Amino acid sequence: MFAAGLVRDKKGIQSFDIPKPQITKPTEVLVKVKKVGLDGTDFTLVSEDLKDLAEGRDNIVLGHELAGVVEEVGTGVTTLKRGDVVTMTVRRGCGQCHPCMHNQSDMCMTGLFTERGIHKLDGFLTEYVVDEEQYIVKVPDTLANYAVLLEPISIVEKAVEQIKIIQSRLPWACGHPDHSFLEENWGRCKSAIVIGAGPLGLLATAQLRIAGVNTTTIDIVPEDHVKARLVKQFGATYMDGSLKQPEDVVARTCQSGNASIIFEASGASEMAINLIPCLLRSSIYVMTGIPRGKSRANFDADLLLRTITRYNIVIVGSVNSNRSHFEKAITSLERIERSFHGLLNQLFTHTFKLEDYEKAFSLQDPNRMKVMVEV
Ligand SMILES: [Zn+2]
Ligand SMILES: [Zn+2]
Repeated sequence: MFAAGLVRDKKGIQSFDIPKPQITKPTEVLVKVKKVGLDGTDFTLVSEDLKDLAEGRDNIVLGHELAGVVEEVGTGVTTLKRGDVVTMTVRRGCGQCHPCMHNQSDMCMTGLFTERGIHKLDGFLTEYVVDEEQYIVKVPDTLANYAVLLEPISIVEKAVEQIKIIQSRLPWACGHPDHSFLEENWGRCKSAIVIGAGPLGLLATAQLRIAGVNTTTIDIVPEDHVKARLVKQFGATYMDGSLKQPEDVVARTCQSGNASIIFEASGASEMAINLIPCLLRSSIYVMTGIPRGKSRANFDADLLLRTITRYNIVIVGSVNSNRSHFEKAITSLERIERSFHGLLNQLFTHTFKLEDYEKAFSLQDPNRMKVMVEV
């Protein structure tokens, strides 16, 4: 079976053969891969040559955003049947810590988890995959075209869940009791800054807007770029951070009204840290972007610590997601499609066949958003 990924002692994306997986337990499901979405993690794993191979293996299949169709189910599978459109969660728990034993491997405490297409487990850039029913999420037929977005949306879902849980410390965020963070209308009377307008930042922007949050999204592309256009079409304000010095971006961001939420989705660490003073009192900063470099920034540490302490600010990191977030992501995706019909299609800027995997990974296009691989 054809597969694309990383190979020991070789640099760059490679193709290789792996055996077709078989159902070996009653609870397993065989899925035919249809589409795989690539994201920054995939490109970084290749460009930075970050291989995390399983013991006894010389290669790992990449790809962790799946759209597939169930081909065959084990005798004990109850929720899926042949022909169902599905996607799959990414992380598999360590089997040792309490979060992992309670379906919260995204919160694993040992770090001994594995991840499909990232850490020690094969991903989806191949023809068939097998996994346990519990990791496979059925996608409604109406959302089949967007199934690969459920993984990135689940990342946003988890981050928003962190915001809501932590901010429930503040039942009276405004004068309306039905605008508290655990209510349906939690986003009303709130403002947010999203850093980054890549697929994750845009999906965060869409989700915050649907919740009613007044949102400003920052990136470093001009106003007529597809990212900036989408930000505006989602009803948010776009700010081009490239034209200004970091101090100016901070000043302008803070000036445009301080934020109750900052959602970091770029991994631009210096900008991320410099924006802390733009938060309102008793507000929250959630970080989802992962910087891969070794940036040494200069900032006013006293100002930052003073602000964090005196303003009761929470800074929280959020990584990965579990099945519950994928299920919530389906509801969010339905709402995004209803509110912003067809806009999500604009995220899919490039599509390649699996055989053209090299082109998919070497693509240099300033308009690149979500790269899709069709199997
Ligand atoms: Zn664990
Ligand atoms: Zn309110």
